[in-house]
Amino acid sequence: MSDAPQNPITQDVLTLPRKAEEGGRRNLVGLTREGLREALIAAGTPEKQARMRAGQVWQWIYQKGVRDFDAMTNLAKPYRALLVENFTIKVPEIVRRDVSSDGTRKYLLRIAGGHEVEAVYIPEESRGTLCVSSQVGCTLTCSFCHTGTQRLVRNLTAGEIVGQIMVARDDLGEWPLPGRNPKDEQRLLSNVVLMGMGEPLYNFENVRDAMKIAMDGEGISLSRRRITLSTSGVVPEIARTAAEIGCLLAVSFHATTDEVRDRLVPINKKWNIAALIEALRAYPKATNSERITFEYVMLKGINDSDEDAHRLIELIRGIPAKINLIPFNEWPGAPYERSSNNRIRAFADIVYKAGYASPVRTPRGEDIMAACGQLKSETERARKARRTAPAETPA
Ligand code: SAH
Ligand code: SF4
Repeated sequence: MSDAPQNPITQDVLTLPRKAEEGGRRNLVGLTREGLREALIAAGTPEKQARMRAGQVWQWIYQKGVRDFDAMTNLAKPYRALLVENFTIKVPEIVRRDVSSDGTRKYLLRIAGGHEVEAVYIPEESRGTLCVSSQVGCTLTCSFCHTGTQRLVRNLTAGEIVGQIMVARDDLGEWPLPGRNPKDEQRLLSNVVLMGMGEPLYNFENVRDAMKIAMDGEGISLSRRRITLSTSGVVPEIARTAAEIGCLLAVSFHATTDEVRDRLVPINKKWNIAALIEALRAYPKATNSERITFEYVMLKGINDSDEDAHRLIELIRGIPAKINLIPFNEWPGAPYERSSNNRIRAFADIVYKAGYASPVRTPRGEDIMAACGQLKSETERARKARRTAPAETPA
């Protein structure tokens, strides 16, 4: 097995060319602090001032939510003009917003190139979680996942990833007033999960840069403990996640034998259960206070037996873990059914009695197709409908 990530399509092909931006003006959203400093120097900012200027612009963008250089009142007018000439502050555009009867908000967002991705905001009593996408589509083809039926179009840039958080804050009206810094648990958007469309570890650098921006204390300022990255099991990138992002980890586990996992999560053919478990055991961030989440989708008659529950416990023995049971969310044409509530309860019970928290995830936003694994952009749906329409017309 090779150590290098085996992304079938290289990042170079997928990453957006810089100059595809408005009239050659570069978007500042998504640049790291160092990247921002360098960009300001390239546009004519004297090197001696660059760090301070970058700090000021950073605070306007990420702490105050400002999108207009002219509103940056602590910068002299000629300097603001220089910024206007060279840069933009662009976030994805909301094309459509659906609000579920349970308060979940699904955003359909348009990004450069006319592509569309989805982000979902899930309000709960003690927190509000934004589920963020990392790719348009996914190269992987997990057989129970709606996104998996959409081929990969491209990786999102760091700006498009952190931009999802910024757009949601716009919509929630949550840019803090001057001098007010609400506690995490009082925020409307307090948590981020990388569980939307795409495999975040196949877009590592952009995801990392975006999360570093989201965690920066002079900006959006989310604690690393309030960010969870979910991977289908890209084993060589797991250690890097701890070292370079430091967020919590979730793993789409879903099966207890290689035979079944090969079918559900085909990346298992490259890195099987044993290899995955070994990488998780070594995850340095896994402690009792920062447990690894094992996501386990409950599919009727496929992976939901008592034997599966017992095998699961054996496999993860010794790993600080919690098991998140996800009732399968159906989508049109899905080849699986959701396990019954009784079955899910029996499974959860076995896991719980073995000493692991085993919460059952309540499906949210099902009425707007916003639940886990239901995301797939409208454009792609429409494109596919056009492609398949003639074949479906009865002769
Ligand atoms: N690509 C990453 C993150 C996105 S998927 C990953 O696979 O982990 C986020 C979670 O939703 C994963 O655990 C995934 O397995 C789960 N999921 C996908 N389709 C689902 C469906 N139809 N019903 C319930 N959960 C689903
Ligand atoms: Fe991709 Fe995750 Fe869906 Fe698998 S479950 S197809 S990795 S988005």
